[in-house]
Amino acid sequence: MKYPEWNSSRFVLVFSLFLMVFFEANCTQTPAEQGRQALEEAAQAMGGLEALREIENISREGTTQPSSLGQARTASERLYVQPSRPYTQIIDFTVPRQVEMTGAARTLRVTDWEKGGYRESRGTVFPLEPRHLNGTRQEWDRDISRFLVYALGEESTIQGIGQHELEGRPHRVVSVTSMDGILYKVYLDDSSHLISKLEFTEDRNPYGDLAKERLFSDYREVGNIKLPFSETTKEMGLVTQVREWSSIIVNAELREDLFEIPSEIQEKARSLAHADTVPVIPTEIAEGVYFGEGIGTNNMWVEFEEFVLVVEGPNSEMQTLEAIHQIQETVGDKPIRYLVTTHHHADHVGGIRGFAAEGATIVTHAQNEEVIREILTRPHTLNPDHLAQSQLEPQIETVEDRKTISDGTQTVELVHLPNPHVDGYLAIYLPRAQLLFESDMFEILQGETGPRVVRPEARVFYDAVRKARWRVNQIVPGHGRLLKWQELVDALEESG
Ligand SMILES: [Zn+2]
Repeated sequence: MKYPEWNSSRFVLVFSLFLMVFFEANCTQTPAEQGRQALEEAAQAMGGLEALREIENISREGTTQPSSLGQARTASERLYVQPSRPYTQIIDFTVPRQVEMTGAARTLRVTDWEKGGYRESRGTVFPLEPRHLNGTRQEWDRDISRFLVYALGEESTIQGIGQHELEGRPHRVVSVTSMDGILYKVYLDDSSHLISKLEFTEDRNPYGDLAKERLFSDYREVGNIKLPFSETTKEMGLVTQVREWSSIIVNAELREDLFEIPSEIQEKARSLAHADTVPVIPTEIAEGVYFGEGIGTNNMWVEFEEFVLVVEGPNSEMQTLEAIHQIQETVGDKPIRYLVTTHHHADHVGGIRGFAAEGATIVTHAQNEEVIREILTRPHTLNPDHLAQSQLEPQIETVEDRKTISDGTQTVELVHLPNPHVDGYLAIYLPRAQLLFESDMFEILQGETGPRVVRPEARVFYDAVRKARWRVNQIVPGHGRLLKWQELVDALEESG
């Protein structure tokens, strides 16, 4: 019986051909194609790309535990760990815009890509700066509910795929350059296909290239999609944020009033949103001594015969560039020889790199030497700032107990002042002008009403100034408005 034999061998041949074609197709799939397929499977596991595309807004309620990099009490520790607190986040991707409410007092922060934004602190409101808006925009784009829509979109490039273990479970790891230009490593759990982790490097002032990880777990059904109810963020390998959601709602009816920006700062918020500068408003407070008032952080500069000394390089390079501009406007183009920092906290040193790029020596308490050197030398490849471009060797000078800088016309005393806020702290005293620059000891915000906030450090500060027999009429603060010494005295009396 020849016929059936021929038939069965033909079947084997056809089947082998089919297998060859099938495996060939699979083998010739490029790493990028395999990566795309893995991301598509992840989208499927979350409810499908279409369902994810239909997300217009998301409201999350739960808790957040923020820990700030560079805000610890000592320079040798990296993190200021804060307690967990209630947190609500509403993101409207259609504008985009966002409302955040934090803590029992529901402190507000509104970020609106079109109108700008504001944050509330002690009942006063501050407009957001361009860097805040840009940073939030990046967070919106990488929000887990939207990430795959962007990663699989036309503006992203899928680079390839690998294998990795994460917490003992096998994962596929897809590399994708998203539309913000950042390279993400997307960890997909082999069994659930869901995203366990995003790994990336972003530019963060004052650290430059900052390695970041965000871990997702506790995926639950939210309508027709699946979203994680736990998000943990690590920076430089340290946990800097833990968010646990108790409720997530997609495409809710949004309350317009929540997004409203207080009328008194609407114009300011809008003009700042995408500006290329932030204000630093100079006031001459004594002969050759200027207060440079920023939005949330201030500095001071002192004119000597041959040079300028600046106290504090806060916030960002953008603020530093404006401060340098105002220094030139007020004292001409004398070189900035010294930039003195009061302490190592990130909000007070965020702009020192810009001064180092001008050739200024950074003067700090000896305890901060290492952290200041790190800030001045870390790689800034994603967004090279002026210092990175200048290739200058940053100069640091340290102070133990006291240093006097004088040329006969001006005298500035840098004095170590131990206090409960932070170690390695310098107060800056100008005996002739009878004024003193301090940060974070005592401040009154511009427009602040109500009882004064008197922290333990305010009393320590007061006692130290009295003990040293300094004559101080005016306090020049790193935050808030200019103060009379008497305002500190009154606040201490009122608080008992
Ligand atoms: Zn501080």
